Amino acid sequence: MKELHTGQLYWPTTRLNTKPYPALEEAATARIAIIGGGMSGVNCAYAFATAGLDTLLVERREISEGSTSANTGMLQYSNDTMLCDLIVQIGKANAQLFYRRCLQAVDELEQAAASLPESVGFKRRSSFYFASTEQDLPKLRKEYEALSEAGLHVEFWTSNDIVKHFPFRKPGAIVTHGDAEVNPFQFVNSLADAAVKAGARLHEHTDIVRHEPLPDGRHRLHTSSGFTIEADYIVCAVGYEPEELRGKLVKSSMNRSYSIATRTIPEPLLKQWHKQWLIWETARPYLYMRTTEDGRIIAGGLDERIEQPVHSEAIMKKRGEQLLGKIQALFPDWPLAIEYMWNATFGESQDNLPFIGEDPALPGVYYNLGYGGNGTIYSMIGARTILGMLQGEYTSHPFPFIGIRP
Ligand SMILES: Cc1cc2nc3c(=O)[nH]c(=O)nc-3n(C[C@H](O)[C@H](O)[C@H](O)COP(=O)(O)OP(=O)(O)OC[C@H]3O[C@@H](n4cnc5c(N)ncnc54)[C@H](O)[C@@H]3O)c2cc1C
Repeated sequence: MKELHTGQLYWPTTRLNTKPYPALEEAATARIAIIGGGMSGVNCAYAFATAGLDTLLVERREISEGSTSANTGMLQYSNDTMLCDLIVQIGKANAQLFYRRCLQAVDELEQAAASLPESVGFKRRSSFYFASTEQDLPKLRKEYEALSEAGLHVEFWTSNDIVKHFPFRKPGAIVTHGDAEVNPFQFVNSLADAAVKAGARLHEHTDIVRHEPLPDGRHRLHTSSGFTIEADYIVCAVGYEPEELRGKLVKSSMNRSYSIATRTIPEPLLKQWHKQWLIWETARPYLYMRTTEDGRIIAGGLDERIEQPVHSEAIMKKRGEQLLGKIQALFPDWPLAIEYMWNATFGESQDNLPFIGEDPALPGVYYNLGYGGNGTIYSMIGARTILGMLQGEYTSHPFPFIGIRP
């Protein structure tokens, strides 16, 4: 089992008394067995169970304890690859289709959040994507044109527009409307409870160690405790631990990203942050930041090409202070202090697109791997796409460029 994060996480402190689910302690059968109880697996369990499918989910840790709890919770349809670059990568029609599908996923996440009996911190927020340097401006303009042409609701803000709304000046920015924020820990735990109410069976502390394809086309999973699960379909929603995949089926790189949550900012000061939009930038790696319901700032960035989360207190502190310095540069009058600081593994595919779809060599085995900065959007697209595939809605993959590819 990999270590997915180190340090002190903020989100798990916002929902105490999460419901425990029993470990699997007998042989089980199901129509669909999902491996992984993070954002991707639980979105699937909820979608499948509410569609009336016999669903069983197993999680080797606890629900939402993987990278989901380290997530910043920014729900943005813009990808790590700008639309103007994605057009070059996969063609204009596919790139526009995919960006629009990502926007639709924000609506689907909103509907899922609204169906839950408790608040999970879901709020529609626009995003503010600023040019980190003057040199980035032409590219930002190009991206604005591409987003506008795709029919997305965007604005271009000049330097003068920015200073009228924020206490800082930047060369320019794109404002994208239609994004949102969520508390990923509350959302996934509440959605898991809702999936169970809809008929799904959930088992925590149940580690899948082997997958055995059966001669009749079904599948048998073996747990580390010696029990088996037989299912018609398997969904691997294993996040950044793709060991369940056949060898190196997907090509990904694992990095690590630093995050902090500040102490609460006084309400009158927070008003300087225009509409509490989600903020990110054109630099790579980028700074990403948002506010929380209790008035904190969560910021992340300083990504490093190292898989193992950091253990050194000194490095964590240094990176935390660097992130704090970046926030302070934007909001110079604020009394900022770090209250939570963590470091987490972060997976990216080579083409910055997720892996969603059926194993080309193992029919009935599906993957929902939302690798990338907007992994939550991808998790939802994965849940809906795989549900459509299971229900025979498609004759071929609706978005082949995110299918399981070498
Ligand atoms: C620092 C950071 C910030 C991020 N910020 C954002 C953001 O702002 N917006 C956004 O959309 N995305 C963001 N992401 C990405 C997002 O966190 C991920 O895309 C998402 O949480 C992945 O969910 P998941 O379910 O795929 O993975 P996980 O939450 O890791 O869930 C996978 C689960 O599978 C379980 N598992 C693995 N193998 C087995 C096995 N053999 N048997 C049983 N269980 C198994 C694991 O225990 C784990 O709980 C961020 C990620 C990081 C690290």
